[in-house]
Amino acid sequence: MRRLPNTFFRLATRMIGFGLVIGIVFPFFMLLLGVPRTIAFSSLFLASCAIAGVLVGFVNIVLTGVTVKSKLTVLTGKMQEVKGSIITISENGKIGDCDPEHCSVPIETNDEFGQSAQSFNELIAAFASSLRMLDDIKNFTAIFSSQLDLHTLGEYALDRVMKGTGADAGALLLEQEGEVVVLHSFGIREAQALSQDAHILRAFSKGENITISHPDEIIVESTLTQFHPKQVIVEPVKFKSVPIAVILLAKAEPFQAEMVRQLSIFSQSLAVALHNALEHEQLQKLAALDPLTGILNRRFGMVRLHEEYSRSVRRGAPLALLMFDIDHFKQVNDTYGHVVGDRVLRNIANQIRQGIREGDILLRYGGEEFMVILPGANKEDALAIAERVRHIVRENVTMYGENQICVTISIGLDSMPETTITGEMELIANADEALYRSKNAGRDRTTIHC
Ligand code: GH3
Ligand code: MG
Ligand code: MG
Repeated sequence: MRRLPNTFFRLATRMIGFGLVIGIVFPFFMLLLGVPRTIAFSSLFLASCAIAGVLVGFVNIVLTGVTVKSKLTVLTGKMQEVKGSIITISENGKIGDCDPEHCSVPIETNDEFGQSAQSFNELIAAFASSLRMLDDIKNFTAIFSSQLDLHTLGEYALDRVMKGTGADAGALLLEQEGEVVVLHSFGIREAQALSQDAHILRAFSKGENITISHPDEIIVESTLTQFHPKQVIVEPVKFKSVPIAVILLAKAEPFQAEMVRQLSIFSQSLAVALHNALEHEQLQKLAALDPLTGILNRRFGMVRLHEEYSRSVRRGAPLALLMFDIDHFKQVNDTYGHVVGDRVLRNIANQIRQGIREGDILLRYGGEEFMVILPGANKEDALAIAERVRHIVRENVTMYGENQICVTISIGLDSMPETTITGEMELIANADEALYRSKNAGRDRTTIHC
């Protein structure tokens, strides 16, 4: 390795050399001042001057060492610490403790040394802030990418972004099937109203970030928050340049520029996570639905039945179950063909849906058999619903050209606590048995298990 020159060695040789020159020149000044030649050029005086010059050179070196070298040593030491931190990060991904408190150097003088210390400290502060941001991004990216449940993700993401930006209130809105919906909100008075807000809709349609610093201009201002916001930010969350969500943040004080910068990095990670969660939800829906009728399929319906049964047992709440089978459906297929039979099946699924309540669960149990789970319904409630559905089906017709296809359904009913049962499969077996009795008794009727 090439040997580099040593600045302090150079300085030392120059100072001592300069001292020696001054020592040699000094006797000539003495002459000018009228000191006799015999004294000024005596060997003792010449030697004294040269030694004094060399001594001054030495003292200068020592003073330079004390005042300059120590400061440079501190700076070098801190730079080594910073280097250590950077190596730690690149080796194991963990952020070291090189924050301004640990790694900055004291500013003790008002000169180039003070200025370089100041610049170094600013560099460390910027470095620490980048590290914090990197740490935040790593953390939320890790959690985001492992979270596929849309609502949990929305709640966590809004919490993180509000903490990261220091916002006092916020909302995360999503576009689903052409509708803007509020996925999660915090501190917003009427969050649902945001889905109609012009700024939000503009962020969705144009993908623009909007910062509103004059809250009086915001149409939502009066209903937005409990406090009077100084600044409101509307940030689109874009996946492949298309806004799929919008973050709204409100703060009683203006947002700091660095926080706002962090928001855009955050929204990039969130976009990928939201996209994954939306895809997952879509797949879940597809996996849970029967493709012909669009209602729950048997596999997922059984999962829902198990959940509702367990909940009813836990709470001691009633639960009823209806089994439906279309009467003489084979004849429909034989007369009009399978395609028309499918249309009739779809219509009947819709008619059953019309007759049941909001929280009731309809599923396609088999070919032309349906099941309805009625949480909270006792025997009378269930009978009323079954009869309502039966009449709706009976009164509706499916048109096939000029022909009116009329079908009826038979229903079997079982309910708890009226029947003591030990598991949800018993509820199904009882309702099925009641349905069988409906068929045997002439069809187009509801039979209660007894
Ligand atoms: P019953 O009154 O005794 O119920 O008489 P049914 O003719 O309805 O007899 P069953 O309940 O055994 O009906 C089964 C028929 O349902 C046979 C089958 O062709 C038809 N089916 C089952 N699944 C489908 C389907 O997805 N589409 C169509 N078009 N028909 C189906
Ligand atoms: Mg059948
Ligand atoms: Mg049938």
